[in-house]
Amino acid sequence: MAKVVYNQDINEAVLKDKKIAIIGYGSQGHAHALNLKESGFDVVVGLRKGKSWDQAVEDGVDVKSVAEAAKEADVIMILLPDEYQPKVYNESIKDHLEEGNALVFAHGFNVHFNQIQPPENVDVFLVAPKGPGHLVRRTFEEGAGVPALYGIYQDYTGKAKDIALAYAKGVGAGRAGILQTTFQEETETDLFGEQAVLCGGATSLVKAGFETLVEAGYQPEVAYFECLHELKLIVDLLYEGGLENMRYSISDTAQWGDFVSGPRVIDAGTKARMKDVLTDIQTGKFAKEWLLENQANRPQFTAINNAENNHLIEKVGKELRDLMPFVKQRKMAKKEVASN
Ligand code: NDP
Ligand code: MG
Ligand code: MG
Repeated sequence: MAKVVYNQDINEAVLKDKKIAIIGYGSQGHAHALNLKESGFDVVVGLRKGKSWDQAVEDGVDVKSVAEAAKEADVIMILLPDEYQPKVYNESIKDHLEEGNALVFAHGFNVHFNQIQPPENVDVFLVAPKGPGHLVRRTFEEGAGVPALYGIYQDYTGKAKDIALAYAKGVGAGRAGILQTTFQEETETDLFGEQAVLCGGATSLVKAGFETLVEAGYQPEVAYFECLHELKLIVDLLYEGGLENMRYSISDTAQWGDFVSGPRVIDAGTKARMKDVLTDIQTGKFAKEWLLENQANRPQFTAINNAENNHLIEKVGKELRDLMPFVKQRKMAKKEVASN
């Protein structure tokens, strides 16, 4: 089994005398900045003036321009959207990197696909929480944490690993477990996971099931509960105890249906197409198309997003969730954390 590192294995002293700049204050940025600060580290946030700036000031963190924050920090964590990182790096960060500084990422995309080419005299590593930023913050506040991966791209000082682990401990990941990876593995598995299973796979499966029932004449509300709402309850059981635990809880009829019909839906053809998705990630085809889409101001992204937001499942879902106060409350609580 791969070695999993926990808080007790980590000495954070190596990071205590350093200044950490968190560039960006979005999903991951706010969580890293606040968690590190509350863990006793010296944090400055780098931003442009705007919504995030105001939020960071309101949250009581020290906020400066990206260039100023990068200049005064020893450890610079870039938590901007991946597609904007190269521009901000070139304009406001690159010239302020000093020998022995650390340049840090939460996703290997830009380094792995050569969009950012760091100088040779700095440490370059990643600390990637395996969960959404708002949960990185919420679980930390609850005394728990989200697991994280760390990977070393360049170890100039000879201390990159110690600094990476101390950073991961500071954001709370050492309570859940920290695993070593490489920029290549983190980038390719992260992109594959979100495309084939977690986001793309799950939304396409839910929509296909919902449409099948509605097209067969069943009520959209029933189809919504069956194909979307209940998925959360099933995933909770998977999360807590794996496949066996989930199957223990469902009826034998459901389990038999799982065995005989699951492989009819997700079959060898699906897996072959998953391999194609993985190949496009590995060859850089996906990265290139996404970078070009951004250069063209996202014509396809916007069109697909608009169409998806108008899908019947979204309309029905909104009405039903409005009638479930507990779901609504949870969503509002999440939003509050999100804007924190
Ligand atoms: P967000 O989209 O949530 O972050 C946006 C932040 O970047 C905002 O604070 C925004 O400020 C700021 N920003 C955008 N453009 C600029 C600019 N030109 N100059 C200064 N600030 C700017 O990003 P995420 O947290 O989703 O992602 C950050 C990194 O973390 C990425 O590398 C991502 O792959 C990785 N990651 C993300 C996860 C997640 O949970 N979302 C999970 C694991 C890794 P403003 O308000 O001014 O626009
Ligand atoms: Mg990702
Ligand atoms: Mg049932």
